[in-house]
Amino acid sequence: MDSCSTPFEQREKIRVEALRIGFDACGFARIDEVEPGMREAYRRWLDEGRQAQMDYLGNYLDLRENPRRLYPGAQTMICVALNYYPTCFQPRENPQFAYYAYGQDYHEVMRRKLRQLAVFVAALSGDEGRVCCDTAPVRERYWAARAGLGFIGKNGQLIIPGQGSFFFLGELLTSLELPPDDPQSSRCGDCSHCMEQCPTGAIVAPGVIDARLCISCQTIENRGDISPFVADRMGNRVYGCDTCQACCPWNRQAIPSPHPEFAPDEELLALDADRFEAMTPEDFGRLFRRSAVKRAKYAGLRRNFEIWKKNRAHKEE
Ligand code: SF4
Ligand code: SF4
Repeated sequence: MDSCSTPFEQREKIRVEALRIGFDACGFARIDEVEPGMREAYRRWLDEGRQAQMDYLGNYLDLRENPRRLYPGAQTMICVALNYYPTCFQPRENPQFAYYAYGQDYHEVMRRKLRQLAVFVAALSGDEGRVCCDTAPVRERYWAARAGLGFIGKNGQLIIPGQGSFFFLGELLTSLELPPDDPQSSRCGDCSHCMEQCPTGAIVAPGVIDARLCISCQTIENRGDISPFVADRMGNRVYGCDTCQACCPWNRQAIPSPHPEFAPDEELLALDADRFEAMTPEDFGRLFRRSAVKRAKYAGLRRNFEIWKKNRAHKEE
């Protein structure tokens, strides 16, 4: 790439390359400290214990609040998104998985594409940059909104106008100084569907999720018992929860993912109650080897299925 380009031209070349690699959106933010209000809100959220079992969210606060500490010399955060909206869905009578778990674990896919982008950017910056994909203490949605990718809805998700919120996010930190895109602010307006339709009331204020109540967190991150309050409201879910996204009007614009890696796994689609009942730890290991579901572990998924059976029996009474 021509390193004599202006920063604006460099930015646009990087954006074109990101889209060529297969990202569905790409934006740029100038790296500085996270805004004080957002830092305080996050610390308050932790102090209130709303992170539930995800204690790691309280680690490395200094890095989380200033990505320059994560990658010294970083000037620009390049934020990217990958669409995972399914091309087809599980039968409703089957134990339900969140859409993001239908296909391959996104970490590997995202990292591979980000590394490709990093090689392109390195030709300009002279340094490798730092690839982040859920594994580093970076406030992904905050930076994606700062980079103009979308806005953070009352459901806490990053919503890309015209495309919805079923996206994986990733970042590349670079020492290149590039002109930032315009940040986006909330476009929820008077809508509060997500808050009203959350089965457990886990959205305790706009954009504030109490993970102790959130079915998504509890079915995946909780290694112990799920509280009766949450269990009674899990309905037909066994892994994650999409309710606050599925009900969002912005997701009427969601289009099926073009990425073959996220195409629904045929065996997962066919996982009905009988197959679930018969699933051994070996079956689990094989079926979810390349899937995000392995995070819940066999015991966690089995626990969730037992709750599913109780809820179904209760519904049929
Ligand atoms: S994922 Fe489900 S439980 Fe969690 S906030 Fe959204 S609707 Fe509520
Ligand atoms: S459902 Fe309504 S309030 Fe919730 S994120 Fe979507 S637009 Fe915003």
